[in-house]
Amino acid sequence: MDDKLTALQVLLHEVDDLNMAAALLSWDQTTYMPPGGAEARGRQIATLARLAHEKFTSEAIGRLLDDLRPYESSQSYASDEASLIRVTRREYERAVKVPAEYVARATAHAAAAYQVWTTARPANDFAAVRPCLEQTLDLSREYSSFFPGYRHIADPLIDASDYGMKAAMLRPLFAELRQQLLPIVQAITAHPPADDACLKQPFPEAQQLAFGADIIRQYGYDFERGRQDKTLHPFMTKFSLGDVRITTRVKEHDLSEALFSTLHEAGHAMYEQGINRAYEGTPLATGASAGVHESQSRLWENIVGRSLGFWQHYYPKLQAAFPQQLGAVPLDTFYRAINKVQRSLIRTDADEVTYNLHVMLRLDFELDMLEGTLAVRNLAEAWRERFAADLGITPPDDRDGALQDVHWFSGLIGGAFQGYTLGNLLSAQFYSAALAAHPSIPSEIEHGQFGALHGWLAENIYAPGSKFTAPELIERVTGGPMRIEPYLDYLRAKYSALYPL
Ligand code: ZN
Repeated sequence: MDDKLTALQVLLHEVDDLNMAAALLSWDQTTYMPPGGAEARGRQIATLARLAHEKFTSEAIGRLLDDLRPYESSQSYASDEASLIRVTRREYERAVKVPAEYVARATAHAAAAYQVWTTARPANDFAAVRPCLEQTLDLSREYSSFFPGYRHIADPLIDASDYGMKAAMLRPLFAELRQQLLPIVQAITAHPPADDACLKQPFPEAQQLAFGADIIRQYGYDFERGRQDKTLHPFMTKFSLGDVRITTRVKEHDLSEALFSTLHEAGHAMYEQGINRAYEGTPLATGASAGVHESQSRLWENIVGRSLGFWQHYYPKLQAAFPQQLGAVPLDTFYRAINKVQRSLIRTDADEVTYNLHVMLRLDFELDMLEGTLAVRNLAEAWRERFAADLGITPPDDRDGALQDVHWFSGLIGGAFQGYTLGNLLSAQFYSAALAAHPSIPSEIEHGQFGALHGWLAENIYAPGSKFTAPELIERVTGGPMRIEPYLDYLRAKYSALYPL
């Protein structure tokens, strides 16, 4: 191995150490930190982010990347060595365009905005976050300004989470999906909604957490290299490939909240836990894109975790855990309850059929705000109008309207939401590729066994980390580009058995 490659790895590990320390401080901020720690914590995270950025954009790394060009070309494209140099160079070239001073400012702002949001949302106080959000929009535009030559001002922001994706590709893709989805939503919501009263009983927190933990352990989430804690807005984070954590929130009167957020975040976490351990501490040790990451969470949450076969195995266990609440509730009633389709207010609670409509309006608002056609001061009102038009109901307040998601209050505007819909599309496309390789997967799921599915994902999706771009990975794994048909086929097959479509 080239000694310059070793030198590069040493520097990359130092950058990673700083980033992982910042991630640990963020995890603490959103789980256990008392409110009094907020101000200093924001500064601490910003300092680490600045140091990591300065180190990563140092001349030393730039020189090594230049010196390594001949070595890179002597290795095959998919080799670990060439991939490490290629992906590091791509990230380096992006990072050097962004001044360290900006990174510190944006990170500190994000921490402050998050604190404002945590009190403004319960208080339904959009006015309190407005100045913050206006600053976030300015910072988002400033970010794009570091990448002159873009076609749409959102492109550099989208590119940062879904590399290679552009507003001009997303708009027609989402428009096509929307056109196909609306008739399905209309056909289903023309019927009375499923009765989900069985999920809205008192379920003690400790038993809820224990039941979810049992399932994800069976899925393949490794608690020796992870743990679960409670938070306001569930997420997955990692401090190394040996420490990949998930969070959840529990509602004692809603069984689905903690259960499905646990399955979701475990899907993200198994991806990270499954990355080739040799990539530890380098830019290869992360997911391929936001969309591919979300495909993994949605696959385990929905395609597996909300399937009939899965509950044929797990429902008797759930009934045994909650005999008073569910002992007399038949499986069919429970299955319909967890797959209830309705026009609802909250994206994270939305069913599989309406979910993407929630995402599309957010993407449009991001593009409009960045373009300057929607002012932050008009966002809350615009949200109410668009929501009524798309989902047929008007949010009664901003708490469950423009204030509901953490994203714009903990990061930038632009690039925050498209990954959710790309993930839904890819979850079905990857699952059908897994089924083609292992036709036994559905019958294994009916027996609470996930080895074939987890093994296929580990080999094909998890292990390469970010060695391949999302389009490359999709091509390698499914033999073609991303498509909307597998997802629509999946929805039609599943929901035509539940509703007359
Ligand atoms: Zn997710």
